[in-house]
Amino acid sequence: MKRIGVIGGMSWYSTAEYYRVINERVQERLGGHHSADLLVHSLDFDEIRQCQIDGDWERAGKIMAASAAGLVGAGAELVVLATNLMHKAAGAIEDAVPAPFLHIADAVGHEATRLGARRIGLLGTRPVLEDGFYAERLARQGVDVVVPGAPARARLEEIIFGELTVGEVRPESQATLRATADSLAANGADAVALACTELELALTEAEVPLIATARTHARAAADLALTGP
Ligand code: GLU
Repeated sequence: MKRIGVIGGMSWYSTAEYYRVINERVQERLGGHHSADLLVHSLDFDEIRQCQIDGDWERAGKIMAASAAGLVGAGAELVVLATNLMHKAAGAIEDAVPAPFLHIADAVGHEATRLGARRIGLLGTRPVLEDGFYAERLARQGVDVVVPGAPARARLEEIIFGELTVGEVRPESQATLRATADSLAANGADAVALACTELELALTEAEVPLIATARTHARAAADLALTGP
């Protein structure tokens, strides 16, 4: 079993899910008292959030790269970044460490393909929905995306950063998330990816099949640690 290094804390609410799901998957596959060989570097999200607000992706990339290097220095053989949004800086991690880096959109694209979904809806933060880096990565796997309109994207941003990343889940926001997911299905999505790792803490069901990105990514990391190249 390879040692997994998780760059987390963005936010810690969803990083806790990674810890749980990776261990669950290892236990499910190996049985007995097996658990994951796992390191988590949990960053102070306030500093990362400031980089996002300032649009300072260079600084964010440096922080991600330093975290990845620290994990690899501590023996990680596989690196995972436990957030969708910060994959905007994924290149900095890939350049910084020789260890395999499991991109979240690759895990999501794989899951979409497994579900037979060629076109998936995305719910998440503005950069994930608007900046193209996420959709481009999915396109490499032949998966197209459909995103909500501008007002719904603004509302998602408020729900994510006003509530979910500070540990709040309001029932009216859950209803909004569900309705937004279903509206993407009405616009041609075969499934909807909850492309912000906190969303699956607030929404577990809709009419349309959902892809929980933290769960999907964490399981894929465990599988790669157990069987990967
Ligand atoms: N966890 C969120 C995501 O998956 C957003 C938090 C962040 O990284 O800014 O995109």
